[in-house]
Amino acid sequence: MSFELIKEHGDHEEVVFCHNKDLGLTAIIAIHNTALGPALGGTRMWTYDSGDDALIDVLRLSRGMTYKAAAAGLNLGGGKAVIIADKTKVKNREGLFRAFGTFVNSLGGKYITAEDVGTTVKDMEHVFAETPFVTGIPESLGGSGDPSPYTAYGVLMSIKASVKKQLGLESLKGLKVVVQGLGNVGRNLVEHLVKEEAEVIISDIDTVKVEFLKDKYNLQSVSPEEVVFTECDVFAPCALGAVVNDDTIDKLKCKIISGGANNILKESRHGDLLVKKGILYAPDFVANAGGLMNVYVELEGYSKDRAFNKVEAVFDNMMEVFEISEAESIPTYLAAQRLAEKRLSIIAPLRVHHQGRNSRPFATLKEVMERQG
Ligand code: NAD
Repeated sequence: MSFELIKEHGDHEEVVFCHNKDLGLTAIIAIHNTALGPALGGTRMWTYDSGDDALIDVLRLSRGMTYKAAAAGLNLGGGKAVIIADKTKVKNREGLFRAFGTFVNSLGGKYITAEDVGTTVKDMEHVFAETPFVTGIPESLGGSGDPSPYTAYGVLMSIKASVKKQLGLESLKGLKVVVQGLGNVGRNLVEHLVKEEAEVIISDIDTVKVEFLKDKYNLQSVSPEEVVFTECDVFAPCALGAVVNDDTIDKLKCKIISGGANNILKESRHGDLLVKKGILYAPDFVANAGGLMNVYVELEGYSKDRAFNKVEAVFDNMMEVFEISEAESIPTYLAAQRLAEKRLSIIAPLRVHHQGRNSRPFATLKEVMERQG
């Protein structure tokens, strides 16, 4: 692990190495940018091959969060944490996550954590025992709970914006929408699409999930092998990343790609190729920002109604991406980056970097004390 790696992988404000030998904690917190607000991003627990791999991952992911929050129009910066551990072998989860919580707390609110791959709501409850700077805690503790319904609602907004742009339609009625992955996001998205009277085609490697939704809504399904190549108006990837790659791109038969999955394009150049094929791509980090918006509302004092209202902004954000793309003749994935950079460049000069709990818009000290009970 070296400073060279940190320099090579971005312009981060702060990188914190956390170690507690007694409780078996080895973690890294990366704060990429706090020009818009405190750096928010989940804690990933993963078995990395090396410390360098973990460092590169946290640097990359925290930078992504800066762009996601900025493009979403939130007063949040970008941060992320990784805990280097095998989630199946951790014996004392409470100790590990409380130890991690003390490090998060030591940053005074400059970094706010949340659940991510390999961590659970229960883990965040342990973090909450040591710090108020954690989101995604259970509703019973004043948190917002599972973000997936909000992510799914945001994806619906993204699909509506894409349909308006690409097909000139205000409604999804009768449009063929293929949903890949029927997990937390995909399942909720299917419900919305059914209400919108779209013709929904579903797919998952888990046949129990497929049969359940097929029966419930009388839907058609396709196999996981066929799903990417199914003829449709909208293809909504809600399972894996990198579904648009060298093997799939020439066989895609959709007019729009708009889904909840992260990193839909295997490489940026695949976004350029989609333009050539006349397929409209709704950039993933703009489309799937609903969960982050929901968490933001949690920081302001949570209400489900306000959270759903906030998520409707995904529609306008996506339309703005399409406008930038058209005005500057650039692919949508680049336009989404421009949107984020534009906002950062406008707001950054107004602010000093976020100084933790003493600066707004987040919890005042009084609010923090109230949350801690
Ligand atoms: P999940 O694990 O609940 O669901 C994923 C589903 O995809 C599972 O049902 C799985 O069986 C299925 N799947 C896996 N491989 C498949 C394949 N080859 N073909 C078809 N189905 C397949 O995950 P989730 O929370 O619903 O998240 C879905 C995607 O959205 C992920 O890429 C995640 O990173 C992204 N995302 C989720 C949220 C959120 O709020 N949950 C927020 C932002 C982004």
